[in-house]
Amino acid sequence: MDLAFDPQLEEFRATVRQAIAEMLPPRIAELQRAHGGINSGHAETLEWTRILSERGWSVPHWPKEYGGTGWTPMQLHIFLEESSSAWAPDTCWGATHMCGPVIYTFGSDAQKQTFLPAFREGRYFLAQGFSEPGNGSDLARLRTAARREGDRYIVNGQKIWTGGAFASEWGFFLVRTNPDVKPQAGISFLMIKLDTPGVTIRRIPQINGDADLCEVFLDNVEVPAENLIGEEGMGWTYAKFLLDHERTTSSFIFTNKRELARAKALAAVEQIDGRPVAEHPDFRSRITRIEAEVTALEWSVLRELANEEFKYDRTAAASTLKVAGSRLQQAITELQVDILGPRALRFHAFEPEERDDAGPLWPTHAEGRTANALIARASTIYGGTLQVQKGIISKLAFGL
Ligand SMILES: Cc1cc2nc3c(=O)[nH]c(=O)nc-3n(C[C@H](O)[C@H](O)[C@H](O)COP(=O)(O)OP(=O)(O)OC[C@H]3O[C@@H](n4cnc5c(N)ncnc54)[C@H](O)[C@@H]3O)c2cc1C
Repeated sequence: MDLAFDPQLEEFRATVRQAIAEMLPPRIAELQRAHGGINSGHAETLEWTRILSERGWSVPHWPKEYGGTGWTPMQLHIFLEESSSAWAPDTCWGATHMCGPVIYTFGSDAQKQTFLPAFREGRYFLAQGFSEPGNGSDLARLRTAARREGDRYIVNGQKIWTGGAFASEWGFFLVRTNPDVKPQAGISFLMIKLDTPGVTIRRIPQINGDADLCEVFLDNVEVPAENLIGEEGMGWTYAKFLLDHERTTSSFIFTNKRELARAKALAAVEQIDGRPVAEHPDFRSRITRIEAEVTALEWSVLRELANEEFKYDRTAAASTLKVAGSRLQQAITELQVDILGPRALRFHAFEPEERDDAGPLWPTHAEGRTANALIARASTIYGGTLQVQKGIISKLAFGL
């Protein structure tokens, strides 16, 4: 059975599709396609955010008073799906989906004025400084310390896996401001400008040929106290708020649909023994199974958006979508590589200094598939690992 949207939503979809086609520079779409839909480059992401912002669409999910569109969840879903289908990059997720909502919910008026327009208008990139060596899943035990001295904090410690820090102007950090209370109660949420003396950023070469993830070392970094978001000691609450936001949008449904369509297109032209891969029984059953799972995921996302009565806790539902979506992302990208066979194997890992900020430019789209499948391995790690998500589901949905 096919899903059908209300006629008004189909009209909305047509308007959005047309507008994106007119606004999106083909150069950016092509770069994004070559990268297999993983964000192509920081400069292009910011350029696209600026273009969207001129139309009032860069932060559609924010409240209207801060620049949101007032669209319904279903309209937002359609907008994101159309953006993905057209090969538009995401906006800077850390700014628009993570830190922005924390600031407009918990920040001061001055902080709202300083940061929200900059995030909305794509003025700079923002990094998320949460994870530390040894404190990823067990985030509450983080050790990076911020000691208050007069009107500033002195920050010392180390973060790791900080996506895009080398290209970011600011980062939002979780730091320990009180070591003498229970771990969660001693954490605060601090904005740190990344060119402050004492901040050292080292990029980590990745198996997919990129070097976006970073180590961030903080050595006696002086941060104005006015950069504390909300109240001291409330960082854990804000981080949970933010991670719940992140998880709800982590079903990867748009990329999963788009990449499955691409896998099918590849299977129609690639050959095994002189016949299209799509006709090979093993591939046919694999594609059919994945297609059934993508359809099930889409229905689950739409039920969630339609606010249908759920039998289970909503956080558990969001975790379930993340588990299903991230595993499908891996299955689909691996399928693409297998369809391409040996042609996907030629792969050159770039050293950080070999690539510019636009990201690695793979010589062929086939190699981009391999790189994409390799980075998809991480989708069951970031934003809460597969095992941690399963723990949440078993506790909240089944009371175990
Ligand atoms: C591509 C990528 C991008 C990232 N971007 C960022 C970023 O921008 N900013 C940032 O702060 N962090 C980022 N991270 C870090 C990410 O959040 C952590 O890697 C993740 O939370 C896991 O933490 P860890 O690496 O310390 O692994 P660990 O927590 O040490 O986990 C190791 C293993 O133990 C399992 N495990 C741990 N605890 C439990 C438990 N309670 N129950 C069952 N199993 C458990 C895990 O599932 C995993 O298999 C990124 C990671 C990746 C891979």
